[in-house]
Amino acid sequence: MLQTNKLAQFYQIIIFRRLLSIAKINQEIKKSSKLNLIETHKLLRPPIVSVMGHVDHGKTTLLDSLRNTNVAENEPGLITQHVSSFVVNFEGRDVTFIDTPGHAAFAGIRGRGAKINDITILVVDTNEGIKPQTQEVIDLILKYEIPTIVALNKIDRKTSKLEATEEELVDAGIELENYGGSVMSVPISGLKRLNLDKLVRCILKLADRLELHSLEDFQLKGRILEVNTQFSRGTVATVLVERGLLKLGSILQSDLTWCKVKQFQATEGFDHSLFVNGGKPGYPFRVIGWKSPPTPGAIFKEISSEKMAKLSIKQLQTLEKTEKSLNVKDSSEKEKITRKFADDSKTLYLVVKADTAGSLEALLNLLTSGKLEEVKIEIVRSEVGAILQSDLIYADSIRAHVIGFNVKLDEDLKVLQKNLKIPVFVHNIVYGIVDYVKNELEDLLEPVY
Ligand code: GDP
Repeated sequence: MLQTNKLAQFYQIIIFRRLLSIAKINQEIKKSSKLNLIETHKLLRPPIVSVMGHVDHGKTTLLDSLRNTNVAENEPGLITQHVSSFVVNFEGRDVTFIDTPGHAAFAGIRGRGAKINDITILVVDTNEGIKPQTQEVIDLILKYEIPTIVALNKIDRKTSKLEATEEELVDAGIELENYGGSVMSVPISGLKRLNLDKLVRCILKLADRLELHSLEDFQLKGRILEVNTQFSRGTVATVLVERGLLKLGSILQSDLTWCKVKQFQATEGFDHSLFVNGGKPGYPFRVIGWKSPPTPGAIFKEISSEKMAKLSIKQLQTLEKTEKSLNVKDSSEKEKITRKFADDSKTLYLVVKADTAGSLEALLNLLTSGKLEEVKIEIVRSEVGAILQSDLIYADSIRAHVIGFNVKLDEDLKVLQKNLKIPVFVHNIVYGIVDYVKNELEDLLEPVY
């Protein structure tokens, strides 16, 4: 009997210990998932947001209100002035707003596949509904599948027609969440600061869906947003870091200028002390140390040394000179060709290069079998081999696109291509090329912004 009791006690202890260890494990799991959550947020960068819409629909007022809410909290007494970018901290998380004139935030997409912003806020005045520029932005949003939030603005006015505006948007192809789609919308008043917190919450929700990672371990790269030449400090450029970390002493190159970062400051609205280890991706910074003013909108990247930066600029200058001299030599020829081609805005001119004769033939067959009636394709050059400098210069002279199938664009030529803004598309899947050409053909049917 005694032995049976002892055995029962023994088992009880074992069971109790098991339960205790399970509880401990559960606690650990909870702790680590909390940690994961914090870690994940640490690895995310702030979303980069720009505001678009028809003139007078309230873009500037909205940006000012968002910024002032922030300024009021962080830096009381600061005078409102126009800035190209600012950061709003909301419930511990940052959102970077950039103010790009007109459709500049989309310009990159149209040009070379790179864009500045992650999220677009489409501002629509609910008293007016969709207007021509609203429609233009909607077309771009749909075409490029831009992550968008609609700000249904000026709801403080008696004449506001919220539902009618929503219906118009749905009819235009913006699938609003409350109509069964996935696009979030928030009724706001930028002027009266109504629902701005809801708007920012939606931005963060969308940013979470997009999983915007903070790529700090990469080579530093970003975009010049704004340039100021202040007598006391020389050139100050506001830059947006896209990847990598901005550090004191970093050597940056942007087109024909370079910079040894003497000083960099966070723009207003976010905690300067966060950047002791370097300026992080997704944030704008004012950078001092430029040899000459860079161009707003241009890309900058880190170069290993001053020597390399100077060398790279020299190379660029040489390429420009070569291009100019070639242009002079061919100027009468170029004039002739340009005149012929300039009249014909409904034709897509292509210089096609491919790795083998077989693939070139297959590609040409596919490209010329299109059925868009209002526009046509004209292949002005088709050859086997890599894309050459002469291909780029020829394409530039007649505003043709250069298509490369299974061939590369040399690094040196990329500089020339970028400088002359020649549309070059290189792909190793035939249908990737066909899609590109289709898109470009559709563009010919659209108004140019
Ligand atoms: P933008 O051209 O899109 O930048 O428009 P603005 O921000 O300059 O605004 C145009 C006009 O609309 C200005 O007179 C603003 O004061 C006014 N406005 C902007 N937002 C609101 C709003 O929410 N309610 C009201 N009633 N007026 C607004």
